[in-house]
Amino acid sequence: MTLHDYDIGILGGGAAGLTVAAGAAQLGAKTLVIEKGEKLGGDCLHYGCVPSKTLIQTAHVYHLIKNAQRFGLPSVEVKPVDFRKIAERIQGVIRTIQKHDSEERFCSLGAKVEFGDVAFADDHAVHLNGRTVTARNWVIATGSSASIPQVKGLEQTPFLTNRDLYSFEKLPESLVILGAGPIAAEMAQAFCRLGTRVSIIQRGHQILSNEDEDMADLVMEVLKREGVAFYLNAAIVSTRDLGKTKEVVIKTGEGQTSTLQAQALLVALGREANLKGLNLEGIGIPFDAKGLQLDSRLRTVHKHIYGAGDVTGSFQFTHAAGYEGSIVVSNAIFHLPRKANYTFVPWCTYTHPELASIGMNEKRAKAAGIAYSVWTEEFKGNDRSLTEGEEIGKIKMILNDREKPIGVQIIGPRAGDLMGEWVTVMTGGVRLSTLASSVHPYPTLGEINKKVAGAFLSKKIFSPTIRKGLRLFFDLKGRACGMDEIGRNG
Ligand SMILES: Cc1cc2nc3c(=O)[nH]c(=O)nc-3n(C[C@H](O)[C@H](O)[C@H](O)COP(=O)(O)OP(=O)(O)OC[C@H]3O[C@@H](n4cnc5c(N)ncnc54)[C@H](O)[C@@H]3O)c2cc1C
Repeated sequence: MTLHDYDIGILGGGAAGLTVAAGAAQLGAKTLVIEKGEKLGGDCLHYGCVPSKTLIQTAHVYHLIKNAQRFGLPSVEVKPVDFRKIAERIQGVIRTIQKHDSEERFCSLGAKVEFGDVAFADDHAVHLNGRTVTARNWVIATGSSASIPQVKGLEQTPFLTNRDLYSFEKLPESLVILGAGPIAAEMAQAFCRLGTRVSIIQRGHQILSNEDEDMADLVMEVLKREGVAFYLNAAIVSTRDLGKTKEVVIKTGEGQTSTLQAQALLVALGREANLKGLNLEGIGIPFDAKGLQLDSRLRTVHKHIYGAGDVTGSFQFTHAAGYEGSIVVSNAIFHLPRKANYTFVPWCTYTHPELASIGMNEKRAKAAGIAYSVWTEEFKGNDRSLTEGEEIGKIKMILNDREKPIGVQIIGPRAGDLMGEWVTVMTGGVRLSTLASSVHPYPTLGEINKKVAGAFLSKKIFSPTIRKGLRLFFDLKGRACGMDEIGRNG
């Protein structure tokens, strides 16, 4: 048997790579993590989830203060924000979480961490900082970066990506965002709430194009009301650097050309896997801009080289990266064949209201030719929502023709957290009757989950057949009051 330096080598110290490292090292595998950047933690910690959600919360608090009167409070004169203070808070949160993702912690778990540029020498060896390191298994977990489109003038126009958003010296006065996916929507609202004039340019006819139109439109309506300008069905023709401002020329569906100018330009048009420079071509591993070609056990054409995280090109979320990391540990270390199954991987866009999803929505069910029914409940019927001034939103439960839930979407306050219950229901195959009969604390937003399940079941329970049966067997006497009697006695 060939002797390798390590049992498992991992390229990339982000969510996926660190999940594999923690699992493998704790199981006794000699583990190496190689990270190209200066610190562990990846995009999520440094330029993604953590800074964006910290910024969103700051913007939310500022928005609440500005709208104090809505809550019966005196109106408040607010000063403009000092972005350096916001950036400090963001860096503070990152530093706190960084401890969990530190070299020291991984060393204490038993994994060695090295920093540097890496490329495959052959399917078991990599070149790292002038030496060759070998491993029995390798995991490619190098994440993704903002995809930059071929647009006339863009190369000569200074633009921002998600990596540049959290360290401004000063809040930009105006911002044009190319794209209308989750990152674009979240950042548009956050910057708009902080005082930036924000415009979104979207090629399609709706924002958040993976979501059902009615849900995405609700998000858009809220953002519009708060001041974000939307240009839908708009193609980006060119960009130009005008010094203090950047210019974007767009062509709308009707063929009209418009020119937008803003102090800053953000490119948020999807993600591209970080796979260049690893010499994957040299060892015969196929990939494209979206990601690696993998089998269902997340193996490349070399069965001992795996892919996990954003490089899979599938569900580009931190929790999906963690899930894929656990699949790799099962396959590579435990040698228990395990396939990735994304059927019930949830996700959430953290606008306010949040939009969370799991499984099929109407769009996906239609595309798959699945017969379905839709059950909805609105947050304006939820007592806790009303007490919190959060009337906007709804839950949509999608059932198949056997009346099993195949998907749920929630748009509303803390939708991401509310989705947790559906993750358990759907992954665990919990019956809707169990959810509907379980006791939820009152008043909570979570009651909406129970209510939508109950709405479906009550149609059956309170049916004419059941009523007829009960009357027959137990001699029930029927209605005691009808609408026509109201007021007759008073
Ligand atoms: C603005 C933004 C907001 C987001 N918000 C959320 C959210 O709220 N919730 C959510 O679930 N997901 C969110 N995501 C997505 C999430 O950040 C990613 O899905 C997640 O980071 C993927 O983990 P990963 O391990 O695949 O990649 P990463 O976490 O990016 O880690 C990859 C690591 O590999 C390193 N690397 C790159 N090339 C090499 C190389 N050649 N050699 C060695 N190392 C290399 C990188 O430096 C990096 O440290 C967000 C993303 C962005 C951009």
